[in-house]
Amino acid sequence: MYSLQFGIPKLRSALYLGRNSAAILPRCALPARRLAALGANAGLIHGLLGGPWTNLHTARSAPPMLLLFDIDGTLTWGGPAKAAFGVALEATFGTAGPIANHDFSGKTDPLIMRELLTAAGHAPRQIEAGLPRFWDLYLSELDARIAADPVTVLPGVRELIGALAARDDIFLGLVTGNVEGGARLKLRSAGLWDRFPVGAFGSDREVRNELPTVAFQRAAARWGRPFRGEHAVIIGDTPRDIECGKAVGAATVAVATGRFRAAELRDAGADRVLAGFADTRATVEALTGRP
Ligand SMILES: [Mg+2]
Repeated sequence: MYSLQFGIPKLRSALYLGRNSAAILPRCALPARRLAALGANAGLIHGLLGGPWTNLHTARSAPPMLLLFDIDGTLTWGGPAKAAFGVALEATFGTAGPIANHDFSGKTDPLIMRELLTAAGHAPRQIEAGLPRFWDLYLSELDARIAADPVTVLPGVRELIGALAARDDIFLGLVTGNVEGGARLKLRSAGLWDRFPVGAFGSDREVRNELPTVAFQRAAARWGRPFRGEHAVIIGDTPRDIECGKAVGAATVAVATGRFRAAELRDAGADRVLAGFADTRATVEALTGRP
């Protein structure tokens, strides 16, 4: 089914359902239940044709594509990062602000920190003064906790990343709001860090929309060829992932394994929305437009 989608203009904007409509998942408060549902029902929900995939697919010899993955809610779930963040804020600034109810989704770590402390009444100068100590503490707290409270690798992620890494027409990287040290600790604990030769992190830019360009620059240095939005796919679980991909003209694929439902991600403008990554072959085709 998937190979027929590409290069057939009249099928553009068509809605594709996975093997059954239950693949459109409800919001789920319980991670275990969520994971079970994803394992059973992951599949392609929605495909919107055009843009980078069509151009790449129809090229006589397809150029390499750069697939840039978010981490939290996309590759992994859970872990001790929020607890470590709170402990480091308390120790450095005497408060973690409204951390219990704060919306972390799709934001960079520096932006989250600044929002929490601003809400707690801290002035920019106070925040700046505490930054070195805060980041040191956050990473040491995360490192100390992650063995006992490891991140969960979402269903199908290992198989998907393994399949993509084996191809010579696909380059893998990260675009994540995590500071680089946090991303390394999380993905190393999951055995996935070495799969991503390049990345752009919250420690590079506080504004997420600026991260893809950083990733392009690192990819160019790594592989010796220029990368732009037209060569890239941004993959994430929040509207902010979609927004940052669109900001650079990249294709965007959203996956409903985080806090956002498929319908919300579709409304946010994702080019494609997946229920999850459990079906490796279908996901590879959805991400790349190539078999
Ligand atoms: Mg995320």
